[in-house]
Amino acid sequence: MKTSIIAVGTELLFGQTVNTNASYLSENLNLMGFDVMYHFVVGDNPQRLKDKLAEAFRDTDLVILTGGLGPTQDDLTKEIVAEYMGADFYRDEKVIEDLKAFFERRGRHMAENNLKQAYLPVGCTPLYNDSGTAPGFALEKDGKAVICFPGPPRELKWLFENGARQYLEKFMEKKMCYRVIRTIGIGESDLETALLPLIDGQTDPTIATYAKEGECTLRVASQRDTNEEASAAVDEMTARITDIVGGYIYSYDDEELDEVVVRILKEKHLTISAAESCTGGLFAASITDVPGASEVIRESYVTYSSEAKISVLGVPSETIDTFGVVSPETAEAMAEGLSRISGSDVCISVTGYAGPDADEGHSAGEAYIGYVYKDRKGHVSLDTSRNFRKWNRNYFMLRMLRTVYLLITDRM
Ligand code: AMP
Ligand code: MG
Repeated sequence: MKTSIIAVGTELLFGQTVNTNASYLSENLNLMGFDVMYHFVVGDNPQRLKDKLAEAFRDTDLVILTGGLGPTQDDLTKEIVAEYMGADFYRDEKVIEDLKAFFERRGRHMAENNLKQAYLPVGCTPLYNDSGTAPGFALEKDGKAVICFPGPPRELKWLFENGARQYLEKFMEKKMCYRVIRTIGIGESDLETALLPLIDGQTDPTIATYAKEGECTLRVASQRDTNEEASAAVDEMTARITDIVGGYIYSYDDEELDEVVVRILKEKHLTISAAESCTGGLFAASITDVPGASEVIRESYVTYSSEAKISVLGVPSETIDTFGVVSPETAEAMAEGLSRISGSDVCISVTGYAGPDADEGHSAGEAYIGYVYKDRKGHVSLDTSRNFRKWNRNYFMLRMLRTVYLLITDRM
């Protein structure tokens, strides 16, 4: 079903509020098989909202609005939509009761203008709001439908999950099944090129690639008459994708790389420690971000200066003098020193130039990851050729995670 989203609110046009409602709705509607074709943003202006509503209804069959449902004067969405659909208002007694209870629970007096929220278009499907005061609603006419949600993202999500999703199911002609496959170590264009034979001319399942900081995600989706058919089509396509780029895949279930790494470390009863320089603790932060990380990490270090690398990790000063503080040799010496002091099964280090500047003869984005695992030690060389500090630091951290992942899955 062709769908438009209209976000209403002058604050969105001023840039004060980010239009997260549109991305939330788009993502969820797409996953349900709706074709979201347009995003509009309109200020709190009746005429411009009327115009966009007409435009959205001209080109699509389902129009979703967010914002402008509150009790104040500038909240006009409901009135404009009802007028457009030719519906009068009725007083919804359940909303009145909910409002009274809402204010009573908080020991607050209910201002008179709140009652405005209890008037809903005749013939609508109310979306009663347990997470706030403004109800949403759905309204249909001549094979077209509109759904209005309040603007606060928490309320929108609550109403979407508790009412709207169920309401929307009747418009889903087919059953949708999808899988999010996550990869690392291959760029989006290389990934797309590798999968071109599968992507080209393919209408179902569809394959979409998304690039995110340092990694790429694939979404494989199928719409068929039954769930079984859709899921079989996704499985079959997943197997074909695995044949081509399986070496880069780390999750078939949309997991984060740190979650996967911690899960595998746990399964294999392995401990991990890091000696970080340019990432300043990002690696340890990502590992400890995963619940239950205490089973796999006991200690980790930020050895930023050369002195710390020497005094804490025992990196020989000659190594730093001879090869430089940013070098494969220093990275490996850091990991070896870490292995001595921590006794962890997996020891990983990083030294590099996050940028924007780098020492002479080097460039921002150059970094070395050192590792010691079982009887193996070695390094990974990185060169992002970028001088964005934040981006580089995050990328180095992801590559540390990837190195650990490859080591503990015996792929490196
Ligand atoms: P409203 O329902 O228009 O009164 O919106 C209430 C609040 O919800 C606003 O002050 C914003 O902070 C937030 N909000 C409204 N629209 C959006 C949107 N499209 N995305 C994210 N937040 C929003
Ligand atoms: Mg508003």
